[in-house]
Amino acid sequence: MNVTELARRIKVSPNEMRDLFPRLGYDIGRKAIKVDDAVAHKIIEMVEQDSSIIERYRREQQPEEEEIEAVSTETKTELRVPQVITVRDFAGLVQKPVTTVIQELMKNGILANLNERIDYETASIIAEDFGYAPVPQDTDRTDQAQQGGATDEKPTGSTPRPPVVVVMGHVDHGKTKLLDTIRKANVIDSESGGITQHIGAYQAERNGKLITFIDTPGHQAFTAMRSRGARVADIAILVVAADDGLKPQTEEAIQIIQSAKVPFVVAINKIDKPEADPEKVLNQLAQKNLLPESWGGKIMTVNVSAKSGEGIEALLDSVLLVAEVEQDHIMADPDQPAVGTVIESHVDKGEGPVATILVRTGTLRRGDAVQVGTVVGKIRAMKNHLGKEITEAPPSTPVKLLGLKGSPEVGDTLHIADDETSLKKIQKQLKHKERAYRDTQTWQQVQTNGTEEEGDQAKEVHVVLKADTLGSQEAIIQSLETIVAKDVRVSIVKKGLGNISDVDILEAESVGARVYGFNVKINQNAEELAQERGVPVRTDTIIYNLIDDVQEQVNALVTYDKVKVELGRAKVLAIFRTERKTMIIGALITKGKAVTQSFATVMRNDTKVTTVTVTELKQGKETVTEIPAGTECGISLKGSSNIVKDDILEFYTEELEK
Ligand code: GDP
Repeated sequence: MNVTELARRIKVSPNEMRDLFPRLGYDIGRKAIKVDDAVAHKIIEMVEQDSSIIERYRREQQPEEEEIEAVSTETKTELRVPQVITVRDFAGLVQKPVTTVIQELMKNGILANLNERIDYETASIIAEDFGYAPVPQDTDRTDQAQQGGATDEKPTGSTPRPPVVVVMGHVDHGKTKLLDTIRKANVIDSESGGITQHIGAYQAERNGKLITFIDTPGHQAFTAMRSRGARVADIAILVVAADDGLKPQTEEAIQIIQSAKVPFVVAINKIDKPEADPEKVLNQLAQKNLLPESWGGKIMTVNVSAKSGEGIEALLDSVLLVAEVEQDHIMADPDQPAVGTVIESHVDKGEGPVATILVRTGTLRRGDAVQVGTVVGKIRAMKNHLGKEITEAPPSTPVKLLGLKGSPEVGDTLHIADDETSLKKIQKQLKHKERAYRDTQTWQQVQTNGTEEEGDQAKEVHVVLKADTLGSQEAIIQSLETIVAKDVRVSIVKKGLGNISDVDILEAESVGARVYGFNVKINQNAEELAQERGVPVRTDTIIYNLIDDVQEQVNALVTYDKVKVELGRAKVLAIFRTERKTMIIGALITKGKAVTQSFATVMRNDTKVTTVTVTELKQGKETVTEIPAGTECGISLKGSSNIVKDDILEFYTEELEK
């Protein structure tokens, strides 16, 4: 029997049910979805005989929670955390190095750089990890307006909404194919004549229930959204190819899913292949402490073939089952002002800025004035995944928005603004803030203005980096950070996981970046596009080679200072020939050596007279390239004709500073 069904039968919530198991004497984990029928009936019987079990449990719950709260606030320092804060500012707030904060975020499945913003929910989790007791910073009227008037970042409510599902797993294990197969078989497309549009997410139907699928597979979408603190996905499908088993990205995906505490179902894919070995996958999962249900554990696995469609319905049923168990968390309030998350964003030639929003709570309506990250606008039109214009989007609906004044970033939060006047005010404030922020970026100032001393402007090597795993991505970034040059720096304009796509090429082109792929391939379209647009692309399987190439790009941009290297001295003994700007003299090398094609400063009574170039050296009749100290020689000079006997020549060369 399902845990939810059992909970319903004894009139408790599924969460209460999970708490009650150990009290009733059963060791059933909190993630259990099903319980043995005999056990279920025993529990029902126990509760029927003594209903005070539940009352006692509920009574005990109250004081316990208060106690815990009292203890924790007593021992921890209170920390006032704003609704939204950059990672850098947050590091200052918790008095930790930015790198430590970034690492802590990564542990929680959030990939964020120092300028990225995290919301209160995320910041407070990390602050707690650092031993603080976070409390929301009081916001005045303006701050609230800047948050789009939203006081409720965390979408809550009591109306069930469709679950949002993200597909993750190793490259080539069939994530895209699986999403395509589900889309083809389960999207109701009668109105659009069968043509579904790619907007970043779609809704499929199974047994009259909707499921929202995030259409960008892999960690990318997930981490991008998490990077801004939005918990978008309710359930993950972990795709593992039955002919390949668990791979590095599978393991990373497991880590990310687990640290984000997202329930998941494993889809063992490609079972149509003769070499498929689903048992091996079960074994590998078990070795990772993920004991499959079929082996008596709690991890749901479904054998599927994204190619033939086999098992897809069972997979959707499993997703719905998880959704049922998690129903307490998959709720929203369609009546509150809408809050959404950007899952895709670009500028369309015809339509202008276009963003796909996943409505998390509330209902988004055409005509609403909205603030999305740093962008504002009024919704001119909304289209669903079938390309159909809609006027209302309830929770868990992905919608393409037209009418924004700019392009927001993936993961940004959408809020409703009260009216247009406050929208204008917000826009002004944001511009002001951005300018102030830019001014604090001293390096960028050097880069754009240069300095009197340096003369040249600081230069950048722009890099778009695609890697196979988060681990290798981080390793490469860390190595790139060690490349230092006086007036050139490496700027990673985009990083991501997976193959190099045409979007990567376009983004690289827009900023003049080179695209680097580590252990990934380049899609055919992207390759053609890169050639057409002249975007340099390099794929490597050895980190060292990749770093070396970046170093070469940096070296090519460095302007080296010339330094003078002294070679030796000579005394002028005689003048043999004087022409306009050239002379032949006789001299004695008194120190070091004379070298052809070097320079010589001509000194007379300790005062510099002129500088000349040594064009030829003769020892006797023989032309040589070098003459050592203590030797008399003939020297041809270029650049001046006013050298006299007894002048001193100081030989030197100019080398580029390393
Ligand atoms: P992704 O990188 O995880 O998105 O993988 P894709 O969806 O691009 O699939 C990689 C390759 O595996 C493609 O050539 C697919 O056609 C193939 N593929 C995906 N699913 C299946 C399957 O169930 N059976 C077979 N035989 N091939 C599949």
